[in-house]
Amino acid sequence: MLLLMACAGEPEPPARKPDILVVVLDTVRADHVMADLPTPQLQAVADAGVVFTSASSSSWTWPSHASLFTGQAPWEHGAHFTEGDGLTVAGGWIQVSPMRRDAVTLAERFSAEGYRTAAVGANALLDPDLGLTRGFEQVAVYPNHDVRVLQEVDAVLAAEDDRPLLLFVNLYAAHAPWEIRDATQALQPRLDAATWLDPWKLNRAAIAPHAGRTQDEPDMVERWLQGDLEIDAEGWELINQLYNGEVMHVDRELNHVLTSWNTSGRSSGVVAVTSDHGELLGERGMVLHCRSLYPELTHVPLVLAGPGVPTGQTVQTPVQLRELYGALLQLAGIEDGSSLLGTLDTPRTDPLLDKAWKDGTWATRIGGRYTQGYEMVRHEGWALISGTTSGHELYDLETDPGMTMDLSEAHPDRVDALRQHADFVEERPTGLLEVDDATQERLRAMGYIQ
Ligand SMILES: [Zn+2]
Repeated sequence: MLLLMACAGEPEPPARKPDILVVVLDTVRADHVMADLPTPQLQAVADAGVVFTSASSSSWTWPSHASLFTGQAPWEHGAHFTEGDGLTVAGGWIQVSPMRRDAVTLAERFSAEGYRTAAVGANALLDPDLGLTRGFEQVAVYPNHDVRVLQEVDAVLAAEDDRPLLLFVNLYAAHAPWEIRDATQALQPRLDAATWLDPWKLNRAAIAPHAGRTQDEPDMVERWLQGDLEIDAEGWELINQLYNGEVMHVDRELNHVLTSWNTSGRSSGVVAVTSDHGELLGERGMVLHCRSLYPELTHVPLVLAGPGVPTGQTVQTPVQLRELYGALLQLAGIEDGSSLLGTLDTPRTDPLLDKAWKDGTWATRIGGRYTQGYEMVRHEGWALISGTTSGHELYDLETDPGMTMDLSEAHPDRVDALRQHADFVEERPTGLLEVDDATQERLRAMGYIQ
């Protein structure tokens, strides 16, 4: 495996602004990498720099990428589910609001400093027509096609251009639909690839027998999403091995990106690798992602290496993905001030806020837990989740980091104290996005709309 060149010592202002590489491993949970699952390339970047062990994101692609690209929380940049107008695709389910046009994006900041900027990804939501990648001078999206993404990355890095480069890459392998990879078969040789390729029939053929059902029952996925489909232990093991195989595969793809990055002469640049959200693999009776705030979805890997970043350091202080925005500007010498690099030595004292919006489509289709939105406050080792129509859930993060034991009835004073920190100021963005038929079809093919 390729080892990233370590850059130890005191940060020095570079004579030339550093090349910057940001890789999002879409849908990768923090507890399914490195110490928990062999992902040697991600580990190599961590060894060369800093690993943040308590990094959090939003619960799905749209708000998380907008936070990464703007440095803002979702209720500030506006890109999240909406029950009202917004990105409403004809005949479709997805109802999201667009990213605010007055939010200055990472690509716009770097372009203003003379950077060449390129975004290459496999998630259809990065389509330039949808606005998330605003400011990148080059955007290439190949929905659910990491091989094409890697080829495009090679082309971007091979192009002759003297300007420093900001390159964003989104790799999609860990996102459903999961395929059988070499890594998967090493974990579970008896899996049959042909049964696992439809995102909305996810795992149906293989998992149905473990739930006492047949694969043809039309409401199986809906019942699973409601949390009332019981899967036996072997079924859950299969799901985890499928997912883990894809995570190990995406680590190999990361190795490809970094090999190409280094051989293009950019080994002294800044490299950040993270994810936009995790995935529920049966915990709490749920699968997939988007609509809750539990750590299976919001706890993501985050590693950062390069000039100005210490080597081999672990940061346990909670940080949020949006804070990478300021860190990258700081490492490029574009902006001074605080960023998550400030957390290296200083314990965090301010509360962290998160929010998941109600999705009107799923509220109608699934009901139950999906008929409301959720807010979360984390402060002083505690987490409070409040549903907009249900009660509160309180968790002691010191003794229960997985947030499995609700202590709200035992600690009403703590609930009240944390509620005082819930300070969400939501500004609705204006303006609708119009999406052409081809973009609709790409979103439909990936399961975002039906
Ligand atoms: Zn995603």
